[in-house]
Amino acid sequence: MKFLIIANWKMNPQSLAEAKQLFNSVKRGIKSIENTEVVICPPFVYLPILRASAFAKSYGGLAFGSQNCFWEKRGPFTGEISPLMLKNLGCQYVILGHSEREKYLREIDEMTNKKIKAALSAKLKPILCIGETENERKTGKIPEVLKNQIQKAFLGISSFIVHRSKFIIAYEPVWAVGTGKPCQPKEAKISLFMIRKIISQLFNHPGLSKKIKIIYGGSINSKIAKDYIKEAKFQGLLIGGASLDAKEFIKIVKEVAQA
Ligand code: PEP
Repeated sequence: MKFLIIANWKMNPQSLAEAKQLFNSVKRGIKSIENTEVVICPPFVYLPILRASAFAKSYGGLAFGSQNCFWEKRGPFTGEISPLMLKNLGCQYVILGHSEREKYLREIDEMTNKKIKAALSAKLKPILCIGETENERKTGKIPEVLKNQIQKAFLGISSFIVHRSKFIIAYEPVWAVGTGKPCQPKEAKISLFMIRKIISQLFNHPGLSKKIKIIYGGSINSKIAKDYIKEAKFQGLLIGGASLDAKEFIKIVKEVAQA
């Protein structure tokens, strides 16, 4: 099993020159890493250019993902990008249901479900983000929240599809994303087990949750990265802020690869 590290650049950096510099530094830095797949999710506008440069020569275990997609294949949907367009550009992954899309764009779970289905039919690997708010944690609602998010996300998707789709779930407590306050590995591990249990029960298939890679995201840096792999048993990490600093990001990848 390979660990998975996903870099979510969000709406950064500001110029193509900076994007190329960041990308090339990461590419050089991870060249010798073997047991960890690194996925870069840049803004849409940089994707084709970075991808062209990535495949010019050897690129180690680097892959591309996008930060979102729409649920239709084509048509009058101003400003949207279809999963097939991303696939045709060489993307393999797509982040869906990120809490920032809910916060700023009012995306709801039903939209995420439609996007997951569209992504799967374009043969993209969905990275579904789930997690509770601070208030939900304080009031003991984590199991209920995770169950609800998972049920809605997987609505109408069969265990057969999940089995062959290389699905990824990112446990991202909303209060830990971009705040500098990571969820402690011990706590995160409890949610990880909950997620596996919810999936097994939802599909009535105990082995199915093992087919889904479950990763952690939320204020990770190089000092704490490996605790989530070694101690909490996540199979990878989703990195936001720290993925914009090439040195720090490479350190995270190396820490995880050695965990
Ligand atoms: C994210 O945006 O998914 C994320 C994990 O961000 P950060 O690492 O900055 O908390």
